[in-house]
Amino acid sequence: MVKQTIQIFARVKPPVRKQQQGIYSIDEDEKLTSSLEIILPRDLADGFVNNKRESYNFKFQRIFDQDANQETIFENIAKPVAESVLAGYNGTIFAYGQTGSGKTFTITGGAERYSDRGIIPRTLSYIFEQLQKDSSKIYTTHISYLEIYNECGYDLLDPRHEASSLEDLPKVTILEDPEQNIHLRNLSLHQATTEEEALNLLFLGDTNRMIAETPMNQASTRSHCIFTIHLSSKEPGSATVRHAKLHLVDLAGSERVAKTGIGGQLLTEAKYINLSLHYLEQVIIALSEKHRSHIPYRNSMMTSVLRDSLGGNCMTTMIATLSLEKRNIDESISTCRFAQRVALIKNEAVLNEEIDPRLMIIRLQKEIQELKDELAIVTGERRTEALTEAELLQLEKLITSFLEDQDPESRLEVGADMRKIHHCFHHLKKLLNEKKILGNSIVSSESKDQDCQEPLKEEEYKKLRDILKQRDNEINILVNMLKKEKKKAQDALHSSSMDRSEFRRSQNSPFPSGNPEEGQRRLLSSASTQAQDFSTSGYRSSLLHNKTGMREEMSLGHQEAFEIFRRDHADSITIDDNKQILKQRFSEAKALGESINEARRKIGHLKEEITQHHIQQVALGISENMAVPSMPDLQEERLRSQLEEEKRRYKTMFTCLKALKVEIEHLQLLMDKAKVKLQKEFEAWWAEEASNLQVKPPAVNSLNHMKPFPQTSESQHDQSQFLFNKSDVYARKILPSPCPSPRSQEQSRTSTPLGNSTPERPMSSVPLTGDSQTDSDILAFIKARQNVLQKKCLGSN
Ligand code: ADP
Ligand code: MG
Repeated sequence: MVKQTIQIFARVKPPVRKQQQGIYSIDEDEKLTSSLEIILPRDLADGFVNNKRESYNFKFQRIFDQDANQETIFENIAKPVAESVLAGYNGTIFAYGQTGSGKTFTITGGAERYSDRGIIPRTLSYIFEQLQKDSSKIYTTHISYLEIYNECGYDLLDPRHEASSLEDLPKVTILEDPEQNIHLRNLSLHQATTEEEALNLLFLGDTNRMIAETPMNQASTRSHCIFTIHLSSKEPGSATVRHAKLHLVDLAGSERVAKTGIGGQLLTEAKYINLSLHYLEQVIIALSEKHRSHIPYRNSMMTSVLRDSLGGNCMTTMIATLSLEKRNIDESISTCRFAQRVALIKNEAVLNEEIDPRLMIIRLQKEIQELKDELAIVTGERRTEALTEAELLQLEKLITSFLEDQDPESRLEVGADMRKIHHCFHHLKKLLNEKKILGNSIVSSESKDQDCQEPLKEEEYKKLRDILKQRDNEINILVNMLKKEKKKAQDALHSSSMDRSEFRRSQNSPFPSGNPEEGQRRLLSSASTQAQDFSTSGYRSSLLHNKTGMREEMSLGHQEAFEIFRRDHADSITIDDNKQILKQRFSEAKALGESINEARRKIGHLKEEITQHHIQQVALGISENMAVPSMPDLQEERLRSQLEEEKRRYKTMFTCLKALKVEIEHLQLLMDKAKVKLQKEFEAWWAEEASNLQVKPPAVNSLNHMKPFPQTSESQHDQSQFLFNKSDVYARKILPSPCPSPRSQEQSRTSTPLGNSTPERPMSSVPLTGDSQTDSDILAFIKARQNVLQKKCLGSN
């Protein structure tokens, strides 16, 4: 058992704008703790806490300042937890802080650069690397991804996500067994055998989360996400299985103070916007106070799910994310205060071991049989039916192993069945008799052997002489062959064609078969061909592919508008940048793949040369009647060192290629995600524009003179087809359409289509270009499109 208080770390996010100095300072002291001093700026201190306190001090295990990169965070915070999970303990890492302070950046990572990948992808990479290294155990890894929003749990890896919004999915519910263990119903567990599979699941969950998010449910700031790696391990042959869970938790934004900030003034009234964080705080307070017997875990789903992580069987680490800008001072102070309470909680992590149920069954079956036998003896019940073939065979095996056992204490355990006991005696008697007869025959055959010893010796002597003659002949033939071989080798050395044929041979089979390095070579060669595969055809994540393929279903006009939207969207720069990087990585991987193949060819060539050199040496030794030197000569030494050098180069390049492969996959997933985001924002914008146009018809447009929009079901359908993509969940939620979500169905029956729907998101939140010229171009474009469509509708009436 390991007793440990929850470890607390702080991470300060770099400011968006250049910031004034002196808001905080970090003091690293010798006792392995650091302290963070938050200094209240004068103008805030005046209106805040009674003009008295001007600075606050908080202690953390370590504080990571703005310049700390993701690698440092992983190495110092996540790696130790991942290590204890590999050893069989439960682990939790949770990020706590206000919205925008860097929780998601720390836990999952940034969406732009590969180097920005966060704790989850790095931990997965580390865990799979370790599993691969450890062949002493059999490991199984499963992934689950839970989102808790408004006290309801949703499975982010539910395959039905594509078809519905968050609220339409079956809810994940909590079940408690008699031992008060928590079980989650409807939360799917997905086996991941490689880092790549696990990463795909992470991206799939994140994409599902993004798609389900609407302006009404700002899931990313108000929900908690729990990514869990379930690891079980077992030594081969052992009945004990170890289970460990690692929760990586991105909590909801912790902001609780309403900010209206006239002249930078802050309201001090506390207002909880997230109820489950409030319950989390209550649990933390209860745990940090001594002698509290009741801990209110059951109050919320999140505290129930994380019960073990808080005051239970878990190694838990908290990361307080801080955005230390002037306007966030109060939130930062409250985050630090929360952390100080968390640091008081003591957990007791134990190894979660259990017996393999299959072995348990075998053991219990045996016990039942023994009890039955005993019962039969006690009750005097006699079994009369004959023993089966299998039973007899089993008994005979038992007798044999009993007889062979050298241990004088060993017993013949056949149970209390008299039929078996009788059979054992019979069998032993039979064996004894057989042995007697055999003993006699051995004695007699031994004496016979002695009789015919002399003539046999004579015969053997003759045989040996013959064999000797044969061997002499063979040696002569071999020497002749070697001489010929030597001549051939010398000729070959002078001929230029030798190189070419050698080269070809080495390409086909660079190593002689049966070489111990063959396995590794095959692995390497498959990896380099793989590198070529993904550099040419490109690896696509099949899980995400169908999500990004949405555009193919768009109408032409829709597509044109999307192109413009995409071009002017801020994210398109990131997508284009990543595309460039990806291209570059592809060509790097291709070049590396080629170099690896080249190195392999060289290795084969060198090996061949060494073999040839050997043959020459042997042949030379024979023809000149000299002993072959046991030490390699200079030329051979040179070849060998070249070979070693080439192998080293080969290995280095292979490692690089592996890393490059991971990076390429990660970049591709990032791009897929960015594309889905762009698509979603476009659909939202498109729907909003359409409804705006319906509410107030444009002033300078020929539409002014048109009749009201025809409301026939057919034209309504037609229009919806034009405006909304079938797969567009978001559009369906905002506008009553021919296929409304169950929730909006009620409304759509009573209201006129389109006209009644007001945009739920202000225009300013739509990521337009900021370039009013372009924006109005797009609007004009949409209006013109609608014009065409409406004319078409009228015409068809
Ligand atoms: P939260 O999840 O707490 O709401 P995010 O992780 O989404 O906050 O961070 C908000 C923004 O700040 C994102 O654009 C993110 O990329 C950026 N960011 C956060 N932390 C860092 C950091 N340490 N370095 C660089 N950028 C960061
Ligand atoms: Mg976030």
